[in-house]
Amino acid sequence: MAEERRDQRGDREARDAREGAQEVGEPWGRSARPEETEAWEALVATARRTVSDGLVVGTSGNVSVRVGDTVLVTPSGVPYDRLTPDDVTGVDLDGRQVLGSLVPTSELPMHLAVYRATDARAVVHTHAVHATAVSTLVPELPLIHYMAGGLGGPVRVAPYATYGTQELAENMLRALTGRTACLLQNHGTIGYGATLDQAYDRTAQLEWMCRLWLTASSVPGLAPTLLSEEQVAEAGERLRGYGQRG
Ligand code: 13P
Ligand code: ZN
Repeated sequence: MAEERRDQRGDREARDAREGAQEVGEPWGRSARPEETEAWEALVATARRTVSDGLVVGTSGNVSVRVGDTVLVTPSGVPYDRLTPDDVTGVDLDGRQVLGSLVPTSELPMHLAVYRATDARAVVHTHAVHATAVSTLVPELPLIHYMAGGLGGPVRVAPYATYGTQELAENMLRALTGRTACLLQNHGTIGYGATLDQAYDRTAQLEWMCRLWLTASSVPGLAPTLLSEEQVAEAGERLRGYGQRG
């Protein structure tokens, strides 16, 4: 058995040397490729940012990034400041672990559902406080700001289901139709993008909009003006060309 394992390791090292893969990570499974090692670093930085920016507390929330057909994910229940390059954790699109030995996030069903249904390359899930508060009050975030256009339109709230379940993933996917982010009732946010930075930024904008709506709607005797779907759609179109060229 030990002999066999040593042989397998020898085979792997020979293959890795051929493919130029680095010896990073786990005692079994394959080794992380250079682009996965790089993506892992960015994923850990993004996960840490969710904590430092106050979008999650402790080990709440999770982050993933897709590299080819491998999805790198934060491990379940591990504080992000403890993650090292050796902790790279990855699954294939069916959820089979292909990298690392730490248990992947419990929200794997949500992350994988997004990658299977969309062209997402990164997904960020948080328990941001204002967004979670809004998820307990309304079925859809009222159109308080044109930035909803950057998320595809009015942000829906996915009905509650227990964390980590397929049912939650299904509710989320319905709420994400035509959107790049949604709220999860009595739970938090989920957003995706073409990069980790984009998925993160959409999440932060959603939290900011929820805070804005709660602030504006908490003035006694006054109710905020809201935008029409057309106004938000127009802003959404314009936002495609927002910022610098290229
Ligand atoms: P994990 O630590 O398993 O990623 O779970 C955190 C979470 O937010 C569950 O919804
Ligand atoms: Zn959660």
